[in-house]
Amino acid sequence: MEVFFKRILWSYVIFLIVFLFSWQWENQSQKQSPWLEVYFLDVGQGDAVLINYLKNKQILIDGGSDGQKLIGQLNKFISPVDNVLEVVVATHPDKDHIGGLTDALRKYQVGLLLENGQKSDSQAYQQLEEIIQNKNIRRENIFEGSKIRIGKFVNLEAFNPDFNYQEKTEDKERNNDSVVLRMDFGVNSFLFLGDVGFQKEKDLIFDQEKIDVDFLKVAHHGSKNSSSSEFLEKVTPQVAVISAGKDNSYGHPAQKTLERLEKSGAKIFRTDQGGTVAIVCFAPQKNCQANYWKDLKL
Ligand SMILES: [Zn+2]
Repeated sequence: MEVFFKRILWSYVIFLIVFLFSWQWENQSQKQSPWLEVYFLDVGQGDAVLINYLKNKQILIDGGSDGQKLIGQLNKFISPVDNVLEVVVATHPDKDHIGGLTDALRKYQVGLLLENGQKSDSQAYQQLEEIIQNKNIRRENIFEGSKIRIGKFVNLEAFNPDFNYQEKTEDKERNNDSVVLRMDFGVNSFLFLGDVGFQKEKDLIFDQEKIDVDFLKVAHHGSKNSSSSEFLEKVTPQVAVISAGKDNSYGHPAQKTLERLEKSGAKIFRTDQGGTVAIVCFAPQKNCQANYWKDLKL
């Protein structure tokens, strides 16, 4: 009888040890630092996406209109000892995309600035131009076929603009010349559309660009003139992120667009409703997870 009880006791102790060990292991693995983080920053009305690779290499796509808001957000996600933005992309020279970049270029060293090649007479563009000249920042145009590689696993490819616009002047249709980027990280894919509209979506389909992705930065803040059903049928996004300001005067995002996105089956995240949206990726072969940053438990 006594031996029997000892056995039970021992098996209980062993069970407990195994349980505690696995609990601790699981907890540690959950606390692992993400390999790649993609933040759709809450900068009010506008776009600003920070891609943070291994917490030490950053790509910033656009900067919203307000420099102080942008810097406040970047401070949350970039180590204070890291003062370099490896790549900055200005998708097109509208204030809600480049207005905030001037302060970011002032604060950080920038490895390379990539632009769609359009010029503008706007104050936001002139200020950006001035800081680029003053700090002698390396700049290049980005267009269809341009590729960027960060580390072994992060690959970006531009699908738009169609040409290398050297002398492009202000254009009423300039939203459609936004830089469009696809990013691949292992099994995960992302599409950043800037402010393109229906016509460019048609062109992207016609050109057979690889637009079928998991994570979509919805075009033009969810405008009624973007995200057509036929385009979304090709993209088949699992997650769609809308970057827009609370109660903005443009009516972004449009109800009709939200309905089309819902019908596509995508899970929708909105910066105007939940603040900064984070997509975190722990390994190239694992699926990245999307959530509002404030709800993330890292
Ligand atoms: Zn915009």
